[in-house]
Amino acid sequence: MDYDVVIGLEVHIQLLTDTKIFCGCLTKFGDAPNTNVCPVCLGMPGVLPVLNEKVVDFGIKLGLATNSTISERNIFARKNYFYPDLPKGYQITQYDYPLCKKGFLEIDVDGGSKRIGITRIHMEEDAGKLIHDEKEDYSYVDFNRSGVPLLEIVSEPDMSSTKEAVAYLKELRQIVMYLGICDGNMEQGSFRCDANISVKPKGSSTYGIRTELKNMNSFRNVQNALEYEISRHVELIEQGKQVEQETRLWDAGLGVTRTMRTKEESHDYRYFPEPDLIPLIVDSVWIERVKKTLPELPREKRHRFAKDYGIPMYDAEVLTQQRDVADYFEACLKFIDAPKDVSNWIMTEVLRVLKEESIDITKFNVTPEMLANMIALIKKGVISGKIAKGVFEEMHRTGKAAYIIVEEKGLLQITDEGVLREKAKAILDSHPKEVKSYKDGKVQLLGFFVGQLMKETRGKANPKLANKVIKGLLEE
Ligand code: ADP
Ligand code: MG
Ligand code: ZN
Repeated sequence: MDYDVVIGLEVHIQLLTDTKIFCGCLTKFGDAPNTNVCPVCLGMPGVLPVLNEKVVDFGIKLGLATNSTISERNIFARKNYFYPDLPKGYQITQYDYPLCKKGFLEIDVDGGSKRIGITRIHMEEDAGKLIHDEKEDYSYVDFNRSGVPLLEIVSEPDMSSTKEAVAYLKELRQIVMYLGICDGNMEQGSFRCDANISVKPKGSSTYGIRTELKNMNSFRNVQNALEYEISRHVELIEQGKQVEQETRLWDAGLGVTRTMRTKEESHDYRYFPEPDLIPLIVDSVWIERVKKTLPELPREKRHRFAKDYGIPMYDAEVLTQQRDVADYFEACLKFIDAPKDVSNWIMTEVLRVLKEESIDITKFNVTPEMLANMIALIKKGVISGKIAKGVFEEMHRTGKAAYIIVEEKGLLQITDEGVLREKAKAILDSHPKEVKSYKDGKVQLLGFFVGQLMKETRGKANPKLANKVIKGLLEE
């Protein structure tokens, strides 16, 4: 039998605010345990939370970027459960009245596009972190993360393949990074995803029973966990068994999912309105103020690059991966109108150097103007593409402009036919055997002679001209 796959994703993003959601403690990652804490985020009795306005700004930003309706009236709620990383015994979140509703985002898959519904986006606080030491019979708890602001983004069950799920996650991650509200780091957990998945007989209108998957800290893990789970569901159904509704953990080492707990229902949490916070009213003035700060979004930028600059979609995707790289690309085009050449250089050499030296493009010492001027030298035939690679390295090493390097090192391309002819003659004279073979019909030796000439000129001979000169001499 054939099956339809149904996937809905819940994503938690840690917000890049300086301080926590309900107190003034720093949100910094990696500080010594329990140093960024105070009575509020430690859940001491009698303390009162005060909402960080920046969290609301960020939530509105994401709501607008995902075509959501921003709620005017917001109520915070308590979600009650016991766990050692939750000192208050409840998490402050939003329940019936989330900040954003009924949004969507467009993903690009298999050459087409698809709209994925976003059910809701709400604000909440993060819990602390347990650290388990295998040698001890107790665990540690670090409350630095307790009270760090999160947005939870819940999608509709609109994805029908693992590919679509990954595309959705990539798009969403890129958006939150463009908005500057989250660093998108999946390994460190600032962008985390829980995946709900079910299968049903092809075409059936009723959903199958779903499981919820946790603990996937990379796109690859999400993909693998979902694929594993799809086969598991199908196998159970084929054996006439039932899928249990439960939460399962992905074990990346073993490549399997394991039962974590049976699925909790919302009534298990005894949600009720948070009595310590007044309703939050978001008026149209506030929304307008935030709207003005929205940048061009990644998908728009991607499509605009492909269309306006006539570069392949693949290039547009690579160049818009990060906003700063996209800006660098466009800055280059102010100095030279050659989008494809600029794109090639950024995608290969520039991104390679940035990666090797793990530097940010905003800190890259080869400025857009320098790169553009170097490309101009190639286009004008002053240097060859091959020589340019060395010039690029030298620009990066010394910070000098391309034309200065070319001058200092005598790298000008040789375009003087007379000069090349002289050198070519000498080469042919010293290879009489090869010349004879060529004349006897082994014409592929042309490449050999050209190679010798390039070597002789240390790559500076204009390749086209080198070809022409040698051919001319051999056929004389
Ligand atoms: P909960 O409160 O238990 O987390 P929700 O109704 O909020 O449940 O749904 C959580 C996520 O599960 C949503 O992203 C939704 O799209 C997805 N989902 C709901 N039903 C299914 C299903 N049958 N198969 C796959 N995903 C589903
Ligand atoms: Mg949920
Ligand atoms: Zn605090």
